[in-house]
Amino acid sequence: MIIGAGMCGLYQLYKLLRNGADVTVLERGDDVGGTWYWNRYPGCRFDSESYTYGYSFSKELLAEWDWTEHFSPQPENLRYVNHVVDKFELRTHIQFGCNLTRAVWDDEHHIWTLELADGRTLTCRFLLTAIGLLSAPTMPRLTGMDSFRGPSFHTYHWPKAPVDLTGKRVAVIGTGATGVQLIGAIADKVGQLTVFQRRPNWCAPLHNAPISAAEMASIRADYAEIFRKCDNTPGGFIHGPDRRRVAEVPREERLAFWERLYATPGFAIWLGNFRDVLMDEAANAEFSAFVADKIRGRVKDPVLAEKLIPKDHGFGVQRVPMETRYYEAYNRPNVHLVSIGETPIERITPTGIRTSERDYEFDLIVYATGFDAVTGAFDGIDFVGTDGQRLRDNWRDGPLTYLGLQVVGFPNLFMLAGPQSASLSTNFPRGIETVVDWASGLFEHAVERGIRRIEPTAEAQAEWTAHVEELYQGLLLRKAKSWFTGYNSNVEGHDKIRYMIYNGGAPRYRQRLAEVAQQGYAGFRLG
Ligand code: NAP
Repeated sequence: MIIGAGMCGLYQLYKLLRNGADVTVLERGDDVGGTWYWNRYPGCRFDSESYTYGYSFSKELLAEWDWTEHFSPQPENLRYVNHVVDKFELRTHIQFGCNLTRAVWDDEHHIWTLELADGRTLTCRFLLTAIGLLSAPTMPRLTGMDSFRGPSFHTYHWPKAPVDLTGKRVAVIGTGATGVQLIGAIADKVGQLTVFQRRPNWCAPLHNAPISAAEMASIRADYAEIFRKCDNTPGGFIHGPDRRRVAEVPREERLAFWERLYATPGFAIWLGNFRDVLMDEAANAEFSAFVADKIRGRVKDPVLAEKLIPKDHGFGVQRVPMETRYYEAYNRPNVHLVSIGETPIERITPTGIRTSERDYEFDLIVYATGFDAVTGAFDGIDFVGTDGQRLRDNWRDGPLTYLGLQVVGFPNLFMLAGPQSASLSTNFPRGIETVVDWASGLFEHAVERGIRRIEPTAEAQAEWTAHVEELYQGLLLRKAKSWFTGYNSNVEGHDKIRYMIYNGGAPRYRQRLAEVAQQGYAGFRLG
């Protein structure tokens, strides 16, 4: 049984069907697509180059699918997922509207029993989670949220039916990657837009553009090389770090390099920078100052520009939101910024938002307030393992895993995009293809040998969890207040660091997985 019909669950379904397994996907939504099914807010699109995001497993699929933009928008992404599902006839193996509430391991029969919200009970031998890393949206805990008379929703729940924004007074709370995409996209479509910003982020231009037919032909001819490049970078993107340090490069040369990065589409500015920008305070400060000047150059009001420049963390320490006309939006007379660090929100009122300074009236309030990332989706399911232990109790102070794939006490439960795996810190489809291919190999190995129970050893789990923690120490992101460190101010207890992602890079992770398999699945007890 696979939980979740997003990019990860669908690929695992495809692989297992090809291997002759008896497999079903349970999906809580009423259609496929995961992230691309739920997030329908204006401006939602890839931050990965489209042609690095598509599946790489089928030459036929690569040959027939045309991406129309370098950073494809949500509707096209959802069409792509549906195309894959139809092409490989996956739909009949998926059950929709299945909200898994509880999963209980039976250590005598080696079976998971799944309880669904609709009262059904199902059983399976192997339980594979593909439940997403950003799939448990979180709302602020503000007084009066239910009292607002107009529509209000989290970006993750942006309605399927078109939302008419014309002439509307709209509030957006939150300026992460989601808020930044949304604000840039709707600034010229609404009547008045008021952005409630707690802490600004370092944003950089996406430089999206259409893909012409000729360009698509050349991308198609180049797919092998594109995927080879992605395989060899830490993040699974076409952008890899410049191995030089900032101080090694003469000032004029490094400024010219940074100008080029600022003009380059996508994550080059974050992932293709000098390697110490994300590791060394001084290098980071110098590059942050460069980007701060860019913001000052784009926002006409100097006081406003300062409010949009982060002062509490450096560039790239948190996930860099990629933007399209984001800073220019603030030059429009209908766009206003409220720094809630200075004038906190006191409550939501029936007609809008009250800060410590004044009342604001709105027709629509949008919460772009992020997710209980990575572990939130797991905490939403009551996983009960051996001896009645609960996953959410075991992970209270942070996840404990072996390879980000399995947890001691929860045999036959495989997390295909689990905490402490590389998929979370990688261009997602590139990361999950690695894990799914590897896991599929393990299942074949298990079937061939009649293995009915797979669980990591306590030693292997302790070693991996310590390794993941250690990898944080060399990076400035260890100081971030962001989902990379498990921070979420809206969830009780999530205000301290949790080691959520594997920072060793995709090639190193892939190599480790290969070694584990070569050593007869070292660290796993196969019984
Ligand atoms: P996020 O990065 O966690 O940002 C949430 C925003 O809401 C932050 O500005 C946060 O402020 C603010 N916020 C949260 N609670 C608040 C409260 N109680 N009061 C006021 N403000 C509050 O979430 P996100 O923007 O949804 O992005 C999450 C992740 O999704 C991204 O990092 C990225 O990995 C992914 N994403 C990807 C894409 C893409 O690839 N195209 C697009 C969008 C998102 P603080 O900073 O002060 O906490």
